[in-house]
Amino acid sequence: MSDLAPIVASFYRGLCPPKVLPLDEFARRFLESPIFKGGRYDPSLTPYVIEIMHCLSIGSPVRNVTAIAGTQTFKTALGLAWLIYVIYYSDHEFMHVRPKLESVRQFVRQRIDPLWTLPCLVGRVAPPRSRSKANTVQLKQYDGGFLFCCGTHAPDDLAAHTVKNTWQDEVDREEPSAGKEGPAHGLLPRRTTSYGATAKHLWTSSPTVESGPIWQMWLGSSQGEYHVPCPLCGRSQVLRWECLRWTGDPRGPADELDCWYECPAPDCKGRIDEWRKAGMLAAGTWVHAHPNRPDRGFRLSSLYSPPGWLSWKDMAKEYALAADAYKLGDPEPMRIFRNTSLAEPFEPTGADEVPVNVLLARRESWLEDAIPEGIRVLTCAVDVHDERLDCHVIGYGLAGERWTIDYRVIPGGPVPDEFSRFDWDYLDDLRRERFRRADGVELPIAITLVDLGGHRTDDAYKYTRSRNPRQVVGIFGRDDHTHPRPVVERQARTDEKRRGAKYRIVGTDPAKKNLFACLRNWDPKRPGGPNTWHFPLRDWCDNEWFKQLTGEHEEWVTTKRGRRQRIYVQHRHDNHVLDTAAYSYAGFRVLEIEGRLRGLMNSGACNDGKRSRPPGRADRDADEQVLDGGRLDRLLGRNDPVSDRARPQTSGR
Ligand SMILES: [Zn+2]
Repeated sequence: MSDLAPIVASFYRGLCPPKVLPLDEFARRFLESPIFKGGRYDPSLTPYVIEIMHCLSIGSPVRNVTAIAGTQTFKTALGLAWLIYVIYYSDHEFMHVRPKLESVRQFVRQRIDPLWTLPCLVGRVAPPRSRSKANTVQLKQYDGGFLFCCGTHAPDDLAAHTVKNTWQDEVDREEPSAGKEGPAHGLLPRRTTSYGATAKHLWTSSPTVESGPIWQMWLGSSQGEYHVPCPLCGRSQVLRWECLRWTGDPRGPADELDCWYECPAPDCKGRIDEWRKAGMLAAGTWVHAHPNRPDRGFRLSSLYSPPGWLSWKDMAKEYALAADAYKLGDPEPMRIFRNTSLAEPFEPTGADEVPVNVLLARRESWLEDAIPEGIRVLTCAVDVHDERLDCHVIGYGLAGERWTIDYRVIPGGPVPDEFSRFDWDYLDDLRRERFRRADGVELPIAITLVDLGGHRTDDAYKYTRSRNPRQVVGIFGRDDHTHPRPVVERQARTDEKRRGAKYRIVGTDPAKKNLFACLRNWDPKRPGGPNTWHFPLRDWCDNEWFKQLTGEHEEWVTTKRGRRQRIYVQHRHDNHVLDTAAYSYAGFRVLEIEGRLRGLMNSGACNDGKRSRPPGRADRDADEQVLDGGRLDRLLGRNDPVSDRARPQTSGR
């Protein structure tokens, strides 16, 4: 009779297949394994995985799950639990992708092979035999499918199988390109097309830089962050590193260190000890910034690591050591800390780059409604977007000294506003403004450069073509590194396809080289001077603005001809501030090329015809360098509003 029991059982299982449980319920019932700390999957330990597991469950409509996680939170345990679940329910194929073949082999040996002894998987996978094709390091067959593990370096492997479920771990460490077809994370969805909406992808990684794949995926996802209540005031919040406090030396013995979390609520500021974390995690909930997006994203730092795993004290110690190294010029430990423990991207700032907080501290308060006296010429640069114009006004003085005066974002797009005006009309208003200097002189914007190469090219062409070409210039930025370019080409080009419209080519790399040199050139004891850049203490000139300004860094590359050269590489998604600053500087150089600069400099000089301050020797030299470069043949009046008067006024003015 006892011999018949399994047969009877399997007969009944065939008649009424087991009810498919959601993944979290399945894990609670069946998973007892050292892969989960404490030997058994315990949902009270990491309650934040429950929602993610729901997304991975059979029957869930979610196709893409992006999880950015700090070390010792849930990443590997989640992926393995999902793999066990897929095998148990014979839910077709499963592909696991890691950065390199070596890490695949190691992972299979250390984390996957032990799974076959789990009671729920016993007998499901062909036994490992050297000559069996059903169980190799990379391929394991099971009832209803197979597990295939491969590395991102091997395009043939990635393209070899059609699968239903994929899990790519350490996405940001993948090979930049798997053959001709681009990086692995772009290939995987093509492997699952035959499964349509039932296919599932799990992407896990710690981030590297903002332009890295996992951060970009997260930006396109629902952007979930785990909110936990403060046990003292009840305020729901995301745990932030800035709120961690400690007394004592984190590098010393742990028992001499006192470490706690300070609630950031102004009326609370309460001390939260780590033993309260378990309760906070249990009472937490995921809050998604974009709840309607189909792709689900989850981000969790190691501050959420459950009690007994990575402690706040451990993190304080790692941070202190990383900060020490950073001060000595080694950013690597800090990068690792920020990427893997805080689960946030880390912008590479080289030793020659200026950190944002330094720039923030450098801002100057000028007189209200007046611009500094050193300014002689104003230029404006416009970055054209689908729904707005970004306008950057910079004033130039002698010897390359410059001041960012204004940064305006004009909302708009192809549809006029309630006053029947377009963003281009408001740009005309800005161009017509006079900027009063502290000594009473009013300066116009001498030239405005409009980017034709971005969005709404037709609109931008239309705008530049119908304005005075001495005041409005259409440009294309070029950063191809095959041959060196000047900041601006001396000759304007003509676009025959657009009724002879004129435009100029701006070499963005040399322009940015000049900008970064000016950014670095600052002596706090003697602020200002030749080739320096001033910033105003204004609301818009904030952290985000400076991040955009410094959103690129220099890197060495090898050109197609085998030459090594330094180029600017974008490490932030948005860098409109830097782009417009580069175009504005190009505008300054256009004035020089057209021979108008000396006239403008003279007419923009001080009220009484004298310089506002006696120039030093460096000033004179650099001044002559700038001015001698152009054909200094024509003086241009301070006000050159002819074209503005000639043009019909726009409505609503
Ligand atoms: Zn509180």
